[in-house]
Amino acid sequence: MAQAPALLDPDEPPPFEVVNPGGAANLLLVCDHASNRLPRRLGSLGLTPEQLEQHIAWDPGAAAVARGLAARLDAPLILGGYSRLAIDLNRPLESPDLIAAQSAGIPIPGNQGLRPEARTARIAALFLPYHRAIAQWLDAHPDPARQLISVHSFTPRFVGQSRPWPVGLAYGRDPRLAQQLRHVLARQSDLLVGDNQPYAIEDAHDFTLPTHAERRGMPHVMVEIRQDGLQRPAQIADWVERLAQACQHIDEALLGEPISEG
Ligand SMILES: [Zn+2]
Repeated sequence: MAQAPALLDPDEPPPFEVVNPGGAANLLLVCDHASNRLPRRLGSLGLTPEQLEQHIAWDPGAAAVARGLAARLDAPLILGGYSRLAIDLNRPLESPDLIAAQSAGIPIPGNQGLRPEARTARIAALFLPYHRAIAQWLDAHPDPARQLISVHSFTPRFVGQSRPWPVGLAYGRDPRLAQQLRHVLARQSDLLVGDNQPYAIEDAHDFTLPTHAERRGMPHVMVEIRQDGLQRPAQIADWVERLAQACQHIDEALLGEPISEG
């Protein structure tokens, strides 16, 4: 059987980017939804340029915060190179939202009726290389006290409801890092910090932190910033500084032993 052509042409950007791989901080930053770029072969997936700027395609502002944190904390950072509409890097392979046929009520024509070969090509070209890069970096820098922080952004309103939290911290079975970070953030800035709001980490929807952090027993948290707070460079700089200071106040000794399922 002939091999399917590669999804990415040689002149297109790689499926992930590693920033500051030798960073001295005892944490790894990741940004799953950093980019709204689509592989050239996928065209626009049938969407308008305006739709491709929206949250359905990426997490606006998240990459800028993650890059700022990497520089401010001297931390390594791995970013996804392509839109979540091509494939969502934070969904399990069996999730129906891995390659969404619709998102937030908007049909994604180019993702509908996808042939198995096309699906396999996206997994091979985009999903596996990103997660292999994270796994390889962590395997090369083993340290159970290292933290894994995933940076995302969320819409101010969702299905008619406004979301009151300027920032949310999400966790699943292991709340250690989220709890500490929440205390520090609330103390330093008087902010309403979402506790597993607007999202929690769930096996059915999340892939990155359960796969890379929880299985290694690493403290981890998903940081979600509301997008109206990320519209201007000054706002982004404020978030970088606020989060960097909070990260610097994490007491590794208080993170204690890994919490196992049970
Ligand atoms: Zn996201």
